[in-house]
Amino acid sequence: MAKGLTSRAEDYSKWYNELVSKADLAENSAVRGCMVIKPYGYAIWEKMQAELDKKFKQTGHQNAYFPLFIPKSYFSKEAAHVDGFAKECAVVTHYRLKNDENGKGIVVDEDAKLEEELIVRPTSETIIWDTYKNWIQSYRDLPILVNQWANVVRWEMRTRLFLRTAEFLWQEGHTAHATEAEAIAEAEQMLHVYGDFAEKFMAMPVVRGIKSANERFAGALETYCIEALMQDGKALQAGTSHFLGQNFAKAFDVKFQTKTGSVEHVWATSWGVSTRLMGALIMTHSDDQGLVLPPKLAPIQVVIVPIYKGEEQLAEISEVANKIKSELEDHDISVKFDNRDTHKPGWKFAEYEMKGVPVRIAIGPKDLENGTVEVARRDTLEKQTYNLDEVVPTVRGLMTEIQESLYNKAASFREEHTTSVDTWEDFLKIIEGDGGFVSAHWDGTPETEEKIKEACKATIRCIPLDAVEEEGKCIFSGAPSKRRVLFAKAY
Ligand code: AMP
Repeated sequence: MAKGLTSRAEDYSKWYNELVSKADLAENSAVRGCMVIKPYGYAIWEKMQAELDKKFKQTGHQNAYFPLFIPKSYFSKEAAHVDGFAKECAVVTHYRLKNDENGKGIVVDEDAKLEEELIVRPTSETIIWDTYKNWIQSYRDLPILVNQWANVVRWEMRTRLFLRTAEFLWQEGHTAHATEAEAIAEAEQMLHVYGDFAEKFMAMPVVRGIKSANERFAGALETYCIEALMQDGKALQAGTSHFLGQNFAKAFDVKFQTKTGSVEHVWATSWGVSTRLMGALIMTHSDDQGLVLPPKLAPIQVVIVPIYKGEEQLAEISEVANKIKSELEDHDISVKFDNRDTHKPGWKFAEYEMKGVPVRIAIGPKDLENGTVEVARRDTLEKQTYNLDEVVPTVRGLMTEIQESLYNKAASFREEHTTSVDTWEDFLKIIEGDGGFVSAHWDGTPETEEKIKEACKATIRCIPLDAVEEEGKCIFSGAPSKRRVLFAKAY
C-alpha cells in the first residue's frame, strides 16, 4: 500500500497525481493523454452516472447511441464549430493494415484509404443533427430529448488524469425544440440539474453562470456553466449547457412545419459533464491523508476492520461485525467487512483512509469484552467509542452529517477565497497570490478579456446568473460596466 502523500502545501499538483494513483482511481496508459480508470475510480464514476441518469430521465430525457465516427464533411457544415474543434480532432484515414513487404512488420495498407476521412467524435452535434433531419418533419415530432453516454476524443496537448484527457467519458444531451424560449428553458434546466447534482451529491458548491464569448462553446449562442473552486485557488469548469439557437438546424437543414403551417428551423441545446467531475471531486475534499469522499458517492460507505489474535477471536469479532454489516445494509448503507488475514489492521486503516471511505468501524478484543466498537470519521479523522446498540443510528447519522459537513467546509473555503476588487493592483495581488474567485467589473469586450489573460492568466469563469446590476468601471480598461463577473486562473 501507499506510503504517505506529498502534502498539498508542498506541491499541489504532485499531491493530486500521487493521490489518483495511491487511491487506486486511475493511471496513465501507454497511449499519450489517455487514462486507465481503475475499478475503484470507475465505481465512483458509476455512482455519478447512476444519479445523473436518474435526473435526466426524471426531466423527460431518453438515452440513445450515435456512431463514434463522423464524416469529415459534417464538421465543415457549421463554421464556428469546425473552427473550435479542428485543432483537437483525431482523423481516421485508412481501414486496413498489411504485412510490410520488407518484412519490417505491419504498415498501413495504402490501398485501403477511406474515400471520406472520419473524425473520431470530439462531440456529436453534427452527426446527431444529421440524424434529426430524418426524425423531424412537424411540430408533432418535437421536442426530442435525447442523451448519450459515450467516450469522446479531443487531442489535448497538456493532459492531466481526469481533468483533461485526450479521450474522456461523458454524457452529451442533444435536444430539439419548436421554439427559442423552450430551448433556452431546456439549457437552463440542465444547468440546474448539474448544479444540484454537484451540490447535493458531490458536496461541491458551484457558481451557475454564463460564459463570455471567448469561452463559449464553438457553435453555441450561449454557454451556461457551473464553476467550482479547487483547494489550490484555481477554478474548474465542471459542466456546460449550451443554447445552440438554430445553428445546427441550419447547417443540417432541419426544418419543421409549425402548428400554423409555416416552415421553420428547429432550435437546439446540448449539455455535458465528463470524467472531469472525478478530478473536481478529488480536489474539492481530499486532504494530505488521501481521498475524502462524500457518503453519497462512496462505493464503500463503511468499512469494518477486525483487530484480533487467532482464529477464535476473529470468529467472535466476525459475528458482531456481520450483524452490524447486515443491519447497516438494511438501511442501504454499503459496508465492507475486511477480514483478510494478509494485511495488518494498521495497514488497512491507512488504505481506507487513502481511499476516502467515509466511516471506519474497528472491533478489537477490548470491544468484545465491553460490547463496544470504535467509529472513525474520514473527513475529520475523529474517533469515538460507542455501545453496540448505538452503532447503527450513529453511522446513519454520520452519513448525513459528513455529507453536509463536506459541503459546508467547501462552501466556507469558497467564501474565504472570493474577493471583490476595484483596482487592477488589487486584482493582480489576489490572482498572483492565493488565487480564488475575483469578482470585478469588466467592459464586456473580448479584447479586454484577452489582455487580462495575457497579463496574468486569469480568465472570466462566468457571469454569475445571480449577478446584480451595478454601475462600475472595468478593472483593466476603465470603461463603464454594468455588473461584476468572476475571474480566476483555471484548470
Ligand atoms: P464542452 O463540450 O466543451 O462544453 O465540454 C463538455 C464537458 O466536458 C464539460 O463539462 C467539460 O468540463 C468537459 N471536458 C471538456 N474537455 C475535456 C477533457 N479534455 N477532459 C475531460 N473533460 C473535458
